[in-house]
Amino acid sequence: MRAMKVYLETFGCQMNQLDSELVRGQLAALGYTFTTDAGEADVVLYNTCSVREQAENKVLSRVGLIAQRKREGSQVILGLLGCLAEREGARLLTRYPQIDLLCGPGELDRLPMLIDNAMRTGAVEAADRVALAGNRSRRSATLSAAADNLELLDLSRSFDPDLGPDGGPRRSAYVRITRGCNKFCTYCVVPFTRGAEIHRPPDTIVDECRRLADHGVIEITLLGQTVNHYRYTHGVAIGPQGREAPQVGPGAAAFRPGSRAGDGRRVTTFADLLGRIHEAVPQVRRLRFVTSYPRDFGDDILQVMRDCPRICRYLHVPAQSGSDRVLRLMNRGYTRNEYLDFIDRARGFLPDVSIAGDLIVGFPTETDHDFEQTRSLMKRVRCKNNFIFKYSPRPGTSAWGRLPDDVPDTVKRERINELLALQAGISEAVHAEQVGRVVEVFVEGASPKARAASRGGGGVELGWERQPERLQMSGRTAGDLITVFDLPPGELARQAQGRILPVRVTGAGTLVLYGRLEAPTRSPAEHGALSARAAGITQFEMSESADFGS
Ligand code: SF4
Repeated sequence: MRAMKVYLETFGCQMNQLDSELVRGQLAALGYTFTTDAGEADVVLYNTCSVREQAENKVLSRVGLIAQRKREGSQVILGLLGCLAEREGARLLTRYPQIDLLCGPGELDRLPMLIDNAMRTGAVEAADRVALAGNRSRRSATLSAAADNLELLDLSRSFDPDLGPDGGPRRSAYVRITRGCNKFCTYCVVPFTRGAEIHRPPDTIVDECRRLADHGVIEITLLGQTVNHYRYTHGVAIGPQGREAPQVGPGAAAFRPGSRAGDGRRVTTFADLLGRIHEAVPQVRRLRFVTSYPRDFGDDILQVMRDCPRICRYLHVPAQSGSDRVLRLMNRGYTRNEYLDFIDRARGFLPDVSIAGDLIVGFPTETDHDFEQTRSLMKRVRCKNNFIFKYSPRPGTSAWGRLPDDVPDTVKRERINELLALQAGISEAVHAEQVGRVVEVFVEGASPKARAASRGGGGVELGWERQPERLQMSGRTAGDLITVFDLPPGELARQAQGRILPVRVTGAGTLVLYGRLEAPTRSPAEHGALSARAAGITQFEMSESADFGS
């Protein structure tokens, strides 16, 4: 039988991207192959996000297109994975009969069985087409519920080091340290769709980082909805073969710092975990983490970040609003001053820390005064970037039906535009501070602009000038600043992908830094070892043994 072709498209956050990677590995191990063309796939899977209305609408319009294909006689199997599937449940099957299977984020280990059912039987009973937690993990937040099969999916992860962007090597990876969330912000569906916060054992996490490093990974991003709340109490949850198992984490109210539990048991805190990975896996040149919760971010974490050179001095720490009244309505659990105190503390420990945030405008009852508080918070914090969203009520959240969506859309639009303009000015100023410096850039591949130009058949537009013989490469600094620079297209550009290279910053825009690969002619006294490493690059000596890291 020919291998079934799967098209898998992912919407939303990094957690979803990691889930998709695990699904991909799981299906590949069973003999499925993958295609980037939904039109030629036997199985089309959308890993959905329910946090933003826009992402949801996009998925549903894709679902409509598959309906058309099915009407024309195609036997394609259509599956919805992720938060939208979990939130809407079997109702989706009635509304969209073209959907063959639904699989929530907590049930992904059952996906092969669902596809198998759909292939064998065609129209099967709803019970055979649906794997949803249905809030099970939320209702029974016990230790045994945490030791579920989903952990096996993370444990059996297969990582393809050749599956990088643009067909180059892949040297960056996500590692999940917690799943779910216990915080219950009123606008957010995650605690309901992903269930209770579950923390993976530190030994398992360190092993996973080690295995990835053995495959050539040099950048790891630890993932958790509130990553700094990671806390593992040893000797409590024991799984098969006597190994420690995942365990349910404390809610925001129950969280307490320190390396001992109330009963004296040893605890691995988030700071301990960062220090352990840094120590145990030195091949990882960049260790970063997202997303931080502004509450309970202890000095111990900041100290580890300061003392461990391979931990990126980067924080993604969403404020969401600058108004105490709105923060209370959002159930965020901190005040404006507490948020600002944290930012000051972080900058005290790490003066060069790069900070990104999230903001919501037009939350129910938001007044001009509340909005002004958000504006002033932005000016005070000076994030390198902010993800700014217009509030839209999401079904399944606690705000849904309880807090009236009473800020008119025109006002929301005015406010978001104002914040976007303000952020553009701040981002440009933050970027301008880098001009003249040499930064280390983890090269991700050809820039989106270069890729678009090559698809269009034209020359490559490079920042501010057209130089068809040059290829614009794009990457990120340790502080997550997007940086573009030019290389001759071909082997050199291909080899640069997935490496950390020194780049002299020559210009700054709102979204990116512009630079050039640091030339070997600079004196070592000027910028030390970077110059020697750059010499290796410009002489095309990009052997595996070359040390381009930090
Ligand atoms: S902390 Fe709040 S916004 Fe973040 S995932 Fe949890 S409930 Fe959602």
